[in-house]
Amino acid sequence: MEVLAGVAASAWSYFSDNSNLPLSSLFSTRSSGNANVTALVEKLSANAQVLLPGSDRYEDATMRWSVLAAPAVSFVVVVATEEDVAQTVKFANHEKLPYLAVNGGHGAILTQGRMKNGIEIWLNKLNTVELAKDGKTATIGGGTLSKTVTDTLWKAGKQTVTGCCECTSILGPGLGGGHGFLQGRYGLVSDQFVSMRMVNADGNLISISKKTHPDLWWAMQGAGHNFGIVTSVKLKIYDIVHKTWAYQSFIYTGDKVEGLYHAINEELLKNGTQSVDILNYSFFFNSPGLDPEKPVIMFYIAQEGAAAVDSIYTKPFEDLGTVVTGKGSGDYTQLAAWTGNANDSPPCQKAGLANIRFPIDLDTYSIEAQRAAYDLFAKGTKETPAFANSLFLFEGYSTQGVKAIDSDSTAFAFRANNLLVSPLITYQRDGSAALDKQAAGFGESLRQVLHRGSGRKEMHTYVNYAYGDESLKNLYGYEDWRQKKLKSLKGTYDPHGRFNFYAPIA
Ligand SMILES: Cc1cc2nc3c(=O)[nH]c(=O)nc-3n(C[C@H](O)[C@H](O)[C@H](O)COP(=O)(O)OP(=O)(O)OC[C@H]3O[C@@H](n4cnc5c(N)ncnc54)[C@H](O)[C@@H]3O)c2cc1C
Repeated sequence: MEVLAGVAASAWSYFSDNSNLPLSSLFSTRSSGNANVTALVEKLSANAQVLLPGSDRYEDATMRWSVLAAPAVSFVVVVATEEDVAQTVKFANHEKLPYLAVNGGHGAILTQGRMKNGIEIWLNKLNTVELAKDGKTATIGGGTLSKTVTDTLWKAGKQTVTGCCECTSILGPGLGGGHGFLQGRYGLVSDQFVSMRMVNADGNLISISKKTHPDLWWAMQGAGHNFGIVTSVKLKIYDIVHKTWAYQSFIYTGDKVEGLYHAINEELLKNGTQSVDILNYSFFFNSPGLDPEKPVIMFYIAQEGAAAVDSIYTKPFEDLGTVVTGKGSGDYTQLAAWTGNANDSPPCQKAGLANIRFPIDLDTYSIEAQRAAYDLFAKGTKETPAFANSLFLFEGYSTQGVKAIDSDSTAFAFRANNLLVSPLITYQRDGSAALDKQAAGFGESLRQVLHRGSGRKEMHTYVNYAYGDESLKNLYGYEDWRQKKLKSLKGTYDPHGRFNFYAPIA
């Protein structure tokens, strides 16, 4: 009786969100991708939900930042406990169904599209932040978004490294390293991991740390999407030392490319020694009101612990001659909005667009390559109006905290690089493969211009920005030992390739 009641409760919780569907559809094999969903529902907690296509909640749960190569989802399990995750994985393994953890829904790598008729395991109810009494760590639920973590910690006088964007999760970025505004102080998001609870490929819940599982732990810090579903993670947190932040922004016309990137190299980056309290960030974009013919360049400098950005940093950029400048000050929680990364900023929106990136890490800007990239970006976005809203992003966070950690000690392979660069080709799909192909060709040619300009043989591509056709060396490092170690760990912990939809080691 109790089990049946449990079934009824779970079914009702599902059904209450789907009042347009008959209860029988929950149990119909047709609408659940031929899986015996009833068997799963029986095992889920009372607050879990199963969402089938046709309901509003299903639409919400499956909406993605980039619609290109979105995973094909037969049904969504909205998990409410870590045990729900374990039960869903066991069920899917038994039914031979593919599955994918979904968090903020901003992952855009094309490999996600390899999931066909799969189960989305939506983590957004695992949304908790609990501070430890000693004030040194916080345990966050596996589906917690960056803004929740930042705001909760801030209220307690604490902070940690998150991605810069409010709308992405902690673990989506963090399992691939995770770049953020505070990385100069404390390292990457993954460098904050202390221990975690995860569901492995067999559907078992395990607790891991560097001490208990040194090899798997190494992999979770940079290649973690390949090894399990993290249900919670304990993170290092820090007292807020500098409450204030200030920024100054500049908009330049395209004739300033050489002057701007030369000044960034000389005045800020300084061969990878950018001051730890500074970050710089720029992008090319089209703004016909500012320049009807060519893209303009938005450039920000932000400084920690300052009421206004020090003129020693801003003067060289003011002297270049700008179209518009802006400035302001406040606290750390406002940085995302200042740099266009807040929940309500355009880059965060799930607007039904294709968004593809072609990342490349750099040490410094080649002025000739910046010019060539700008000219190509201008030409491509003008000749194909569908690409007019594209951006070319240049992220220059300080790197001391990232470099302080031994590169061999984690699966994140590219600690020595100073710049995170990526064209972002944004467009409305027109139903033709030709436009997708053209967009990919455009993005790749922009990346290749910078690669040639870098003079490097190796191309390092940040896994969380990857387009999806990069090699394992591009994504996870060129060293033979690294590749061997990753493949061996994959063979041990995920021999059947169940976590193979996000930058798979395969
Ligand atoms: C607007 C924008 C801004 C960004 N800014 C930054 C930034 O500042 N720094 C940075 O490093 N990256 C940034 N990124 C890239 C970001 O790291 C990736 O897009 C990442 O995949 C987003 O994670 P998500 O949870 O939002 O997406 P999802 O699509 O939900 O997750 C991506 C993948 O992560 C895996 N995953 C997520 N949660 C878990 C979990 N709990 N356990 C196991 N696997 C999990 C799954 O494989 C999933 O397919 C940004 C992306 C966008 C779109």
